[in-house]
Amino acid sequence: MDIAVKSKELNKELDVEAIRKDFPILHTKVHGQPIVYFDNAATSQKPLVVLDAIQEYYKETNSNVHRGIHYLSNKATNEFEASRKTIAAHLNASHEEIIFTRGTTEAINLVAFSYGEAFVKSGDEIIISHMEHHSNIVPWQMLCERKNATLKVIPITHEGELKIEEYKKLLSAKTKLVAVNHVSNTLGTINPVREIIELAHAKNIPVLLDGAQAVPHMKVDVKKLDVDFYCFSGHKLFGPTGIGVLYGKSKWLNQMPPYQGGGEMIKQVTLEKTTYNDAPLRFEAGTPNIEASIVLANAIDYVNEIGLDKIAKHENDLLLYATEKLEKIQGLKIIGTAKHKTSVISFVIDGLHPSDIGILLDKQGVAVRTGHHCTQPLIDFYKIPGTVRASFAFYNTFEEIDIFVRALNKAISMLK
Ligand code: PMP
Repeated sequence: MDIAVKSKELNKELDVEAIRKDFPILHTKVHGQPIVYFDNAATSQKPLVVLDAIQEYYKETNSNVHRGIHYLSNKATNEFEASRKTIAAHLNASHEEIIFTRGTTEAINLVAFSYGEAFVKSGDEIIISHMEHHSNIVPWQMLCERKNATLKVIPITHEGELKIEEYKKLLSAKTKLVAVNHVSNTLGTINPVREIIELAHAKNIPVLLDGAQAVPHMKVDVKKLDVDFYCFSGHKLFGPTGIGVLYGKSKWLNQMPPYQGGGEMIKQVTLEKTTYNDAPLRFEAGTPNIEASIVLANAIDYVNEIGLDKIAKHENDLLLYATEKLEKIQGLKIIGTAKHKTSVISFVIDGLHPSDIGILLDKQGVAVRTGHHCTQPLIDFYKIPGTVRASFAFYNTFEEIDIFVRALNKAISMLK
């Protein structure tokens, strides 16, 4: 079947051509060719509503929040707090449970420091998995070092799935927290997070989910999951960089000490003693990224208008289509073949280095990521130098996958 026809048929519910008009950067030319942007897991592109909202903020609202009594300051504060409510509604949380951070990394560091100060002591254990991003490894290693605690790791199968039976064995009275990703950025694996949470909760152990790669692709309901902490980054969700979210159950946030000291996070300061604000402001020291906090709500509204169900369906179609095409290439091996995956394909090719392939793809206008993707322990597990990773968003097309596969075949023939 002609690819354009097939694409239309598969896309019945999503008008990708119309959507692409919302993203000016997708019309860029790279080395003389239209860009094929397949690096969405690293960061996503921004629709016009987000770009316009950034300008609008600085033209009509710019002022500091929570401080002034003047018109603009009140306007900025209202929009900032309204965004917090939009994010809360999106996650089915309450707005006191939403903390603005710089991104997923800062959100995890906040919990590692603050929860760690309150609840982790010498001899305790924290559980992570073998497929974590460095952001969900290093903060826990630092905590364990500070507290003389131990990091335990859930092993994975060769397909890239967590070994749940092994996980069960790791849970003990010493475990103080389980921190795993909802979706792996390197493999695309969607982890069985409900089961992970239920098993931990059966032993009264809280769970943090790194949702950086989940939130752009699926509806996340923190109440349904009953998750204790959930983190994501705005820039992967079609919003600005420098903004992220930590969701935390009030029952934990209210027991956790501040992460940083400064303005906003206090109730009363004297030179002898300071009392702290309630959550979420207790965890938001200093002037926040006001513009990005506000604009993140525009990105969320945009995604919701399209519909996360439709997005997931289209992205899954792209994943299946690309997987089928790539599997036909001789010597190509897909890394990460879990049953449940988002639209991420990592692969290696016999005898070729991922970065050489990446460079030759770029010369043909195709943007992919190569290397360890900030998951060095995972890459070491597969005993490979890294992967080439193509990651799709809802604005990507079947035609782009065809261009990518042609460019890849050309790169292989040049390198072999
Ligand atoms: N966790 C995962 C699974 C990620 O994919 C990323 C970004 N690659 C991060 C954490 C870190 O996100 P950020 O750099 O936006 O803080």
